Amino acid sequence: MSGLMQDAVVLEKKGLIKIEHRQVPNIKDPHYVKIQIKATGICGSDVHYYTHGSIGDFVVKSPMVLGHESSGVVVEIGDAVTSLKIGDRVAVEPGVPSRYSKETLSGRYNLCPHMAFAATPPYDGTLVKYFLAPEDFVYKLADHVSFEEGAMAEPLAVAVHANRLGNTSFGKTALILGAGPVGLLTGATARAFGATDVVFVDIFESKLERAKQFGATHTILWNASSDEATLVHETVKVLAGGRPDIVFECSGAEKCIRAAVKACARGGIVVQVGMGKDDVSFPITELSVKEATLKGSFRYAAGDYDAAVKLLSTGQVNAKPLITKVFPFTEAVQAYQYNVEHAKDVAKTIITGPE
Ligand SMILES: [Zn+2]
Repeated sequence: MSGLMQDAVVLEKKGLIKIEHRQVPNIKDPHYVKIQIKATGICGSDVHYYTHGSIGDFVVKSPMVLGHESSGVVVEIGDAVTSLKIGDRVAVEPGVPSRYSKETLSGRYNLCPHMAFAATPPYDGTLVKYFLAPEDFVYKLADHVSFEEGAMAEPLAVAVHANRLGNTSFGKTALILGAGPVGLLTGATARAFGATDVVFVDIFESKLERAKQFGATHTILWNASSDEATLVHETVKVLAGGRPDIVFECSGAEKCIRAAVKACARGGIVVQVGMGKDDVSFPITELSVKEATLKGSFRYAAGDYDAAVKLLSTGQVNAKPLITKVFPFTEAVQAYQYNVEHAKDVAKTIITGPE
């Protein structure tokens, strides 16, 4: 069987991305839909696979199509599909768990050991013309939400998940360490969930400036030379003597993880969102004596993607200022190169198409 071919953005191996031909997939499962991809965000994880060839245990062993933050238009539906129709503009949730694992049944399908996640080895990603997804992992976009914004539902779902783990609610105070894309969306979501104070910390003034469009009520510039005690002191100062109920550690840096535990309120929650070194040292006694809870946070689970799409459509989170650069599909290789070279000032790069 030959079939139609399509262009795909493929990570051949560490350091080498090419546009290649791949088979257009055919719907086999009647609950699946075929989506023509219109916009895809470049994620730190894609860039990491490009520059390092692996993330933790996930190693790129054979060529892999990149991309997992995508939106598009439904162009074909399986016989059993009821929730979508041809022509619907949609955001695509890029990871499909087993429908039979106990983690999936519990609602925490992000923990399913059989997860097939786009652009996580060995699974191909969304940077193609046509991509298949099950109807319940595809979310309709409101007419006024652009495809570029729709692609941002993916990192926004990460932010929603983190806020649910942090029990963000009205009146809570939050500290965000790291004002990269996920940190920014986590802060904006915290405000949408009712947090009254959202303090952003970063080592770059430009990122803190951007944070003001993502719910920051206060910003703290943390010099590489200043210590954790200084950061805690500054935080307490802007919170009028209080400490943050929730700390979202979005940098993955060891110093920030340490600072997160130290800054957290008694009985508070530290949510580890960022990924960095595999092993770090942090003040566990302090965590114990103030009965703080340290939670890992990984991708998103039941209801998170849906909530992210709703935050975009209601305007409660405005993802537009996140998009700092747009490349056409034909320049996808340059788009990744641009991300590597401008890691410090780029927020989100979007690849549009392919046409
Ligand atoms: Zn991502």
